[in-house]
Amino acid sequence: MALHDIQTRLDAAVAEAGRAPGSVTLIAVSKVQPPERVEAVLTEGHRIFGENRVQEAQGRWPAFQARYDGIELHLIGPLQTNKARQAVEMFDAIHTLDRPKLATTLARLAQERGACPDLFIQVNTGEEPQKAGCLPAEADAFIAQARELDLPVTGVMCIPPVEEEASLHFALLAKIAERNGLDGLSMGMSSDFEKAVKFGATHVRVGSAIFGDRVYA
Ligand SMILES: *Cc1c(COP(=O)(O)O)cnc(C)c1O
Repeated sequence: MALHDIQTRLDAAVAEAGRAPGSVTLIAVSKVQPPERVEAVLTEGHRIFGENRVQEAQGRWPAFQARYDGIELHLIGPLQTNKARQAVEMFDAIHTLDRPKLATTLARLAQERGACPDLFIQVNTGEEPQKAGCLPAEADAFIAQARELDLPVTGVMCIPPVEEEASLHFALLAKIAERNGLDGLSMGMSSDFEKAVKFGATHVRVGSAIFGDRVYA
């Protein structure tokens, strides 16, 4: 099955990069996939999933969580502040912290709850106007600001421009992480996760290569 093939390719890439076995987390991106495909992957024993919309995740995951133990959910899509409360209740990690207003809101919720999901700062490495993420030049200051708010910043995340060589973006993100003392690197998707591993990815986000093409209603 596809999940097994992808895990095998990931393990090989990790070994080839001379990195420790199991040091890269495979996030199975299940957004807009039919529930039976998601269930097939759960049945295979996989437990770590990525969704890009809070509402969609709320619609499908509680039922799976009632039947399968140990599910870990990662939010990988843009987060509006008015959905932040639901997001912190539902997700174990949020990969898309990208602006001060959201940081302030998450900090307030974290205070209230005494807990907060792991946070990745999204960096718009391609400086694309239509894409979320802070600009590379603003990343250091924004990371510092999030830390001052006592937020659990564990890493950085990027989505390279479709038409550019992803390696350049992976290298840039790795540099930002390193100079800020961050271990987490959320980068690499179906078409380039092996390359991302070479550049130090700790979390790869793989959707269509595991589940098949997305089915949009
Ligand atoms: C959809 C999505 C993915 C997965 O993309 P595939 O090409 O299907 O692997 C990864 N990251 C983000 C942020 C996404 O929105």
